[in-house]
Amino acid sequence: MIRFENVHKSFGKHEVLKGITAEVDKGQVVCLIGASGSGKSTLLRCVNGLEDYQSGNILIDGERVDAHAASIHNIRTRVAMVFQRFNLFPHMTALQNVMEGPVQVLGEDKAEVRARAEEHLRRVGLADKMNFYPSALSGGQQQRVAIARALAMRPEAILLDEPTSALDPEMVGEVLSVLRDLAEEHMTMLIVTHEIQFAREVASNVFFLDKGLIAEHGAAKDVLVRPQNARTQEFLRRVT
Ligand code: ADP
Ligand code: MG
Repeated sequence: MIRFENVHKSFGKHEVLKGITAEVDKGQVVCLIGASGSGKSTLLRCVNGLEDYQSGNILIDGERVDAHAASIHNIRTRVAMVFQRFNLFPHMTALQNVMEGPVQVLGEDKAEVRARAEEHLRRVGLADKMNFYPSALSGGQQQRVAIARALAMRPEAILLDEPTSALDPEMVGEVLSVLRDLAEEHMTMLIVTHEIQFAREVASNVFFLDKGLIAEHGAAKDVLVRPQNARTQEFLRRVT
């Protein structure tokens, strides 16, 4: 579904991704872990063209991601992104936020989109908040709207960049629970997270990123329970 082939990315002279090669298969939940500054967000942003990369390939079902090509709009509808800070449209209600992409970008029928958007909001536990503006919602509720908004595009995969790290502790659980449900439904997800316990529960695979390289990857139960690489071991000791 998502394939990285020797991906290199620099900001000016600073090389941030130093040859990333990895794969996310359809239906897999991959957690991307690693220290702050190791390149996790940059890698995620390259997948849907929010950043470009200098060499190598990122392929979505065989189609090369090129941030500067017209095809990037199509890629972004196929691979949805959920941000750390929700990024909802402040002047739109929860329901309008979820409807915006399918109506404006995909040009779908408004009545059908509304029915589906309501269904997605119910699914993330927000049946009673559909007509609230983001400012009237808690962080956890806003993040669940953002997930419903991503789902409304019927993406082939969802990228999530630290989806719970901007939340108060009591709201982390409600968002993780939505992600757990999606994982059970085999939604393909690439999730940057510091929630190692959550990764243990839901991830099929884990990538450990260290200074722009994937130092270790494999089944979650191997990488998180019996890490082979000394840097993975050290990282896990620090965060758990
Ligand atoms: P992580 O998400 O793992 O914390 P990032 O991908 O955000 O790491 O950042 C990796 C490195 O790239 C850091 O050194 C960061 O300062 C640098 N970086 C990220 N975005 C930019 C940018 N837009 N311009 C310059 N440097 C950047
Ligand atoms: Mg980051």
